[in-house]
Amino acid sequence: MPAKKYDVCVIGSGASGGSLAGELAQRGASVCLIEGGPPRPPEKINSHGWPYERKPLGVPPVRADIVKEPIEVIGDPISIMRARVFGGRTTHWNAVALRFSADDFREGSLHGIEEDWPITYDELAPYYDKAERLMVVCGSKENLDVLPDGQFIRPLKLRCSEHILRRASAKFGMRLIPVRKALASEPGHGRANCHFCGHCMMGCGVSAIFNTARHAIPQGVASGKLDIRQGWMAHELLTDDEARIRSARIVRTYGTEEDEVQADVFALCCGNVESPRLLLNSKSARFPNGLANNSDNVGRYLHGHIIAQTVGHLKDLVGVKPFNQDGAIDHAYIPRFDPYRKVDFVGGYGFQINIRSYMYPQHAKQLEGYGADWKKKVRELQPAHSILAGYGKVIAQRENRVTLHPTKKDANGLPVPVVHFRWHANDLAQFHDMRRVALDIYEQAGVAFQFHPNEEPVGFASHEVGMARMGKNPKTSVLNKWNQAWEVKNLFVTDGGSFTTFPEKNPTLTITALALRTADSILEMKQRREL
Ligand SMILES: Cc1cc2nc3c(=O)[nH]c(=O)nc-3n(C[C@H](O)[C@H](O)[C@H](O)COP(=O)(O)OP(=O)(O)OC[C@H]3O[C@@H](n4cnc5c(N)ncnc54)[C@H](O)[C@@H]3O)c2cc1C
Ligand code: SF4
Repeated sequence: MPAKKYDVCVIGSGASGGSLAGELAQRGASVCLIEGGPPRPPEKINSHGWPYERKPLGVPPVRADIVKEPIEVIGDPISIMRARVFGGRTTHWNAVALRFSADDFREGSLHGIEEDWPITYDELAPYYDKAERLMVVCGSKENLDVLPDGQFIRPLKLRCSEHILRRASAKFGMRLIPVRKALASEPGHGRANCHFCGHCMMGCGVSAIFNTARHAIPQGVASGKLDIRQGWMAHELLTDDEARIRSARIVRTYGTEEDEVQADVFALCCGNVESPRLLLNSKSARFPNGLANNSDNVGRYLHGHIIAQTVGHLKDLVGVKPFNQDGAIDHAYIPRFDPYRKVDFVGGYGFQINIRSYMYPQHAKQLEGYGADWKKKVRELQPAHSILAGYGKVIAQRENRVTLHPTKKDANGLPVPVVHFRWHANDLAQFHDMRRVALDIYEQAGVAFQFHPNEEPVGFASHEVGMARMGKNPKTSVLNKWNQAWEVKNLFVTDGGSFTTFPEKNPTLTITALALRTADSILEMKQRREL
């Protein structure tokens, strides 16, 4: 019997691939979804336990699903956090869901350093609406140009420390608002609502947080049009004489069994460095530098977020009677603001607030001393704990890129990715400003004890983007405005790799909106017989 040929083969089941596959299948396309990682059913997640209680239950904290295979970084020390699990990183994310602003799509015109996106905010806005409904995003309408409002359910309530920080930051012209998160803050949205345990990044045991494995893929499967090949890694995309992909060569994860998946259209949704790795590993006579890479743009323009965290223990809360501050990790956000003194960078940053669980005394290791006095100090400071985590824009530079190691292979037989990265002076200027501004806010709020967990810049918070970017010009980009490869008509890339530039906002809402828009484009192009 000849092998089945699908309408679309989607590779990767995270925010991008899970949303795309679910949407396409529900709208009648036959889809094969390939995912290299294992399933992580919520009932097996026991994130509420202390670390010493977890082992016997085989509990998967976030690191259980982080790819442990080697990756080499040349240049400034940054980390690339890849996840390999059914549902991708939505299994372990913090779910902050922020729209880009209209200006975020035209940073080239505004600052002259980078390029404009080939699409505008208005073109993506209907898909932001759709993505927010799919993901269920809580938040408040604030009418800010820098952070457009969306389709929100009830916002999270600010906690004590967040009220204090709101008053302090207002003195500098900042607006501290309820965070926007893809999380059921109230009943009635087709999923259990959040019980505010603060363990989202270890996995949500009740699936209150958006996870494609629970909230997008099962709907596709229910349509009868979605087949899943879970536990298989795509190694290579094979092309025909007309520069079209005919099949994906897949190999059992950590195994040797091989197969091929045939389809009319292929969508790469492998996340961070994995999509460019697959393209660069797919060489042929027509594409000697890797698939869709005759223009030498695949793997280039790697960027992400630059981060500076500052911890402050608020004087007003030191030594108060312990009270329950658990929540859905962060409940508040300070959107990008107008600088209140002269700065030497373009773009900007926002502050995510209280991004760590209150379960652990995060400050204990920073406190000097020992014995009963030390324990007393740790206890007194615990209710006063707060964090201002600046997330800033990073410039998309052509030299920052991922390549493949010429000889080293990982445990799956795939070439080891090699990341070449240097911060831009603009990135570093923001890093220093984030630290200075955080100290200003804390000085205004009044703190008993403070420290910077990041003495050096940290990148990228698992927010890697740009390595197969969209653009207006085929000479400087990999994809056109439809997330479709210029050089290979039946290839689409819808993960963060497709971003032209990246503002300070978290990427996943935009990734999901682009995936849903790509579903429309694929279906329309197929209807017009262009694919
Ligand atoms: C701890 C943590 C917190 C985060 N918090 C936030 C947040 O608050 N807000 C936000 O916007 N973002 C956040 N992120 C980032 C967010 O999770 C990602 O942006 C998003 O999930 C990316 O979706 P994706 O589909 O592009 O990639 P992924 O979610 O990484 O999915 C890619 C999938 O492809 C699979 N895959 C890769 N290569 C292959 C191959 N060759 N063959 C088969 N399968 C393959 C992988 O196993 C994976 O499942 C966070 C990430 C982490 C780790
Ligand atoms: S805080 Fe809410 S969304 Fe996060 S893990 Fe707990 S129940 Fe799930």
